[in-house]
Amino acid sequence: MTDGDRIYIGPGKTTPRLLNDLLDYDPRRRERNGTNLLADPSPHWTEGQAIPRRWDSDCRHELKKNVDRTSAPDSQDTVPDPSTKYIVSTFCSECHYYFDIVVDYTRWRDGQNPCRVSDSVNPLHHLQLIDSIDARRQPERLVRSNHKTIVEWHHFACSSPSCPVQVAIEISEPRLKMDMLAPILNAATVRARGEREIASEPTRFEGLSPLNPLQALGYLKVYINNTKSALDDSGRKRIAKRNKKFVLAFGEDCNVLFEFLGFKTIIEESPETEEGPAHFWQPPTVTLDNVAFYDDVVSELSNQIFQRPLIEKQTARQWVQYQPIPAKRDIELSLGCFYYPTKSRAIDLDSAEDHPHYLSLGTVGDFNDDYLSWAYDRQCECDPVNRPYYLDCLSGIATGRQSSDLQTKVVMATSAGEFGKQQILNSYRFFGIDPYTKEPDDHIIGLFKSRIESAPRQKDEARNCLLAIAKSRDSSAIRAVANDRTMSVEEAYEFLSVTADTAADSVEAVAVSLIFDDSDKTKVAQAMRVIANARGDHALQRTAAKLESRNPGSSLDIGEAYQRLQIKVRHSSDETVFAYYQSLMAEAGEGSKDSYREALRVIGCDRASNFLLTKLDNPDAEVLAEPSTANQPIGLDNIGNTCYLNSLLQYYYTVKPVRDVVINFENHRMSLNDEDVKKKRVGGRIVAKSEIIKAQKFVDELHSLFENLKTASTHSVKPTRELAELTIFSSAAEANFRRASISSPSGPPNLSSILNSPVYEPVYGPQLPPLPNRPSPIPEDDIEMVDHPGDKTMADDSSEATLVDMLDPPSYDDAVAKDGDKFRKEEKKEIMSALDDDAVMVNSDDTASDEKVIPMPEKQPPLPPRNKAGLVIQTNENNSLISDDELWRFGTQQDVTEVIGNVNFRLSCALEPTSIEERSGEQMDIVRDTLYGSNTIYTQKSQTLEKKLEAWANLMVFPAPDGPRDIYEALDVLFDEQTVDIDNSTAAQHASISQLPPIIHIQIQRTAFDSVRQVASKNRNAVNFPETIYLDRYMDSGKDSILMRRRRETWRWKSQLKVLEARQAALNKTIADISVTDALIATKDYVEKLQEDEILGVVVDPNLTESLDDRTLEVTEEVESISRDIAALKQNLNEQFTDMRQYEYKLQAVFIHRGESGGGHYWVYIYDFENDIWRDYNDERVTEVKDRRRIFDYQGAASETPYYLAYVRSSDRKDLVEAVCRDVPETPGVQGVDLMQTSLVNANDTELVTLSDDEDTANISSRHVEHAKPRPLRPKPTPDIVSWEAQSIASGGCDANGNPW
Ligand SMILES: [Zn+2]
Ligand SMILES: [Zn+2]
Repeated sequence: MTDGDRIYIGPGKTTPRLLNDLLDYDPRRRERNGTNLLADPSPHWTEGQAIPRRWDSDCRHELKKNVDRTSAPDSQDTVPDPSTKYIVSTFCSECHYYFDIVVDYTRWRDGQNPCRVSDSVNPLHHLQLIDSIDARRQPERLVRSNHKTIVEWHHFACSSPSCPVQVAIEISEPRLKMDMLAPILNAATVRARGEREIASEPTRFEGLSPLNPLQALGYLKVYINNTKSALDDSGRKRIAKRNKKFVLAFGEDCNVLFEFLGFKTIIEESPETEEGPAHFWQPPTVTLDNVAFYDDVVSELSNQIFQRPLIEKQTARQWVQYQPIPAKRDIELSLGCFYYPTKSRAIDLDSAEDHPHYLSLGTVGDFNDDYLSWAYDRQCECDPVNRPYYLDCLSGIATGRQSSDLQTKVVMATSAGEFGKQQILNSYRFFGIDPYTKEPDDHIIGLFKSRIESAPRQKDEARNCLLAIAKSRDSSAIRAVANDRTMSVEEAYEFLSVTADTAADSVEAVAVSLIFDDSDKTKVAQAMRVIANARGDHALQRTAAKLESRNPGSSLDIGEAYQRLQIKVRHSSDETVFAYYQSLMAEAGEGSKDSYREALRVIGCDRASNFLLTKLDNPDAEVLAEPSTANQPIGLDNIGNTCYLNSLLQYYYTVKPVRDVVINFENHRMSLNDEDVKKKRVGGRIVAKSEIIKAQKFVDELHSLFENLKTASTHSVKPTRELAELTIFSSAAEANFRRASISSPSGPPNLSSILNSPVYEPVYGPQLPPLPNRPSPIPEDDIEMVDHPGDKTMADDSSEATLVDMLDPPSYDDAVAKDGDKFRKEEKKEIMSALDDDAVMVNSDDTASDEKVIPMPEKQPPLPPRNKAGLVIQTNENNSLISDDELWRFGTQQDVTEVIGNVNFRLSCALEPTSIEERSGEQMDIVRDTLYGSNTIYTQKSQTLEKKLEAWANLMVFPAPDGPRDIYEALDVLFDEQTVDIDNSTAAQHASISQLPPIIHIQIQRTAFDSVRQVASKNRNAVNFPETIYLDRYMDSGKDSILMRRRRETWRWKSQLKVLEARQAALNKTIADISVTDALIATKDYVEKLQEDEILGVVVDPNLTESLDDRTLEVTEEVESISRDIAALKQNLNEQFTDMRQYEYKLQAVFIHRGESGGGHYWVYIYDFENDIWRDYNDERVTEVKDRRRIFDYQGAASETPYYLAYVRSSDRKDLVEAVCRDVPETPGVQGVDLMQTSLVNANDTELVTLSDDEDTANISSRHVEHAKPRPLRPKPTPDIVSWEAQSIASGGCDANGNPW
């Protein structure tokens, strides 16, 4: 129990409960069975047990308030503040114990919010005991005096973390002790005293009778009141001890009492009489310090007097007016429970004794269901160990009240895995265990196992009991066993009475016969599935699924199953279905889990999905969709969340020219001799040697992976971390280059207007032919660092600065830089002179400065800044690999285009050029030839039509701001004419494709960036793409060609369409939200009505309705004609190019992202032209897509969005792409040694020799040699396979496949 951190453990009491306990608690009997009724929680109760809560003789307190010492709120609406401290000082008018209740808000911290009835979350304080002092045990902790005998002190705090309230209750004894009062309270004693005194001095007492206690008490009260009211010592009257009334009332018997009250004996010699010295009681001095005590004494005396019997009052002729004020209201107001909604106000709180269930929940019987439910939750939270018992309490009350709300609450708790205490006890009994056993978990698990072995039919019941026990012991080990619904293979064999050696068809036969025998079909199917999984037998797996789908036990139809898993789109991928299932399961209680399992099973059966059915049994199972065979592609293991990496790698593997060049890399490897390096230009810039080395390392890694994809007999292989990093990260120099180059727009004409964000510029892959503003030489120790912290923007200034900062100016770089500048200048001269007919390569840098593109009418959302601030990653050869997290974080921040650009760039760097483009010096190679296209951009300046040529590696399109659009509409945005602002005048500009690459990449840019809110968002609107597209309409052609004329026609139509649509919108929707025609008709109706009514004074033009009719007709005709025109225009637009089908492209790959921007899951669908199969490449699983709507119909599946498409040229697609490329060695198990099968070995015989030369391995020229020996394929060779060297010797010059060297 600590205060500052507020970790109080244990049950609490709501304030009404606490108050009731306070009233029932008799401090004269502080303990009963070791518990304190007020301070301690109510003891647990079981059916039939009688726990006497209090004695009948206990005082049910009548608390009265001490007005002077009470400060309580006036009403429940009074709002406390951090200085608030309510004090209610009370005493019981029966037993006269004192109870001071302090409600303290002074620990209020910022942001706290005390409980109050108006707050639905915490309507009442729920008080937990944090300290308790019993004077008998710890007298030293209590400050006690003659005047105040504190016997108990209890300190509570509210269990709500947001509530500062603490409550202290101080209990003290009556000020006047009974033994002191006895001489005046006992009537016989008082009477005897009187008689004795009268008899001793009859003359003196003549006419007087003995007194009664009431009179004595009355005298004492007068003495005290006089004492209290005396202003100073002189005003206090001494009491002569010989005073007759005093003698009769008190005499010598009460000396102890008077002394306790502070009276002092004074003796005065009296010269006048002979009776000796006179004795007086000198009253005490009443000060501020002790006045409370005398107040209390007076009230006690009043109370005693009030309680004297009637006979005494008659004798004394005293009718005591004594009406102390009840304190309960003040206590309730201070505790904040004066008013709260109750079950029924009719119940008399004071008389009703609450059922122990209410007591245990810290509640009272008049709580309504909501409050009980709340109190149950509080109690469970504060005292989790006893949750089962509290559930029993709630359940008992629910039954007792017949409350359906509470019953529901109980059911919900049960289905969330809560067990009642009774159920837990029964569960222990089921296994014959003592509920309080100290046996370890293993013992109980053992009992469970032996039980289900001996009585398999009880398995389900036993499992439920075990779950209850797991809960009560909070044992995860037991829970795991109880939740394990899998069937072991042994169990499966036993269940089907077959053995591990039984052939698959026999197993099937047994299963079918069992089904006919009316066995539990689910179980038969499950047993089959378990065996199928264990054997990796997919035929058996499917049979199991079929059996299961015929299971009559499930009445769930397939539609309901999808509904139950909340899946709206039935053709979602298995992956998606499973994701929905898992997220539901994560939050479901045990009760609902079964229903989700059933739904997944029904879907799994319906689809005959091995994946779903296996995951059903074991969500963690690694599902291998299809066995690895020569005609199936294999998967890529996810190496941490490296987003689209696997999709990209799988895709590149299907691009034949790229795959071939990677697999035969040694034939294409760029030489590192300085002469060649110097000449190399990739993406319009010089490439440093270190960059080439890095790039070759990348291709070497890619080579190993491709080899694995080709030859592994496993279902999947794993990309290396090195490969992941080299794929996702570009080099610092390259990043800087990009920033430098993109600071001036040079894409297709309107892209820069689309991407009008000041902080982000798109990258369209390495661009041709932009020459660097400044070449970017690379420091030799190639730092793979992508960004500087804080370098958020891609603005040109900062990137320039960064670029400069990066350079430790080595002389080599300077030389290169000068070369570059010179090169650029020469290039520019050429451009200037060639500004005529030929399309020219324009350095984007030069034209951009005087060209400002006017934003398109369709304004595209800005893109997110690639904010890599704080992510500084350095890797070099020696450095440890970066963490998964960082890789993932970085990967998600990278644009997929950027990564593809990086891959292309690295490939080009690593490869020997096939030729060099004359004008730019740009290297031509297989990557460029396959993936790069170019546009000609025409700008109509005042005098001339200016042309420039721009290369691209992909086309970036956008979804419509609202609703779906098709791919042509999206592409039109790139190629339609638009107006740009050049040199303060406008000019028409359009782009045409001057060169189509064999493979076209289209990026669907879905991420937009809200620069005000600084958040990225995803536009999920569909961009519909067909399997075949024709690009003729965008091709470059002569000014007066048919194509160009048609294009211009469409541009005109589109502007007409825009006007018509605007007019249509205006007519169809007036300000009043009705169409113009409707408005006119309504007006006419109104006018007609005016005419009929012939309202006096309203003159209606008789022609008005007629003219309204005319107008209505006109408008209707206009609306109809506009609709017709629009339809016609749209049809024209649709049909304008349908006859142009020369440039046909087929969809080959669709990259999918699911989730929000900056996260989620990625996969790719790739089409296999040979077999007419679409496959889903989902990390380690590659599966056939049966339902193609999954790929093409995204209307409903809003969370899954295609973001990147690859189209391949129809005419020679066989040479361009190939989905399946496998060459699996015949003998499984020895694939680890088929290291020599690739041609690269032959190509590098000589270098192979140097491999053994240790000295050489350190230098750069030999660095790539190690790759002549690709890393062993996964899985690693088994130990009994001899090492490669040994093998090659032993086999006498043959490789592992037996082929001669
Ligand atoms: Zn009492
Ligand atoms: Zn509270």
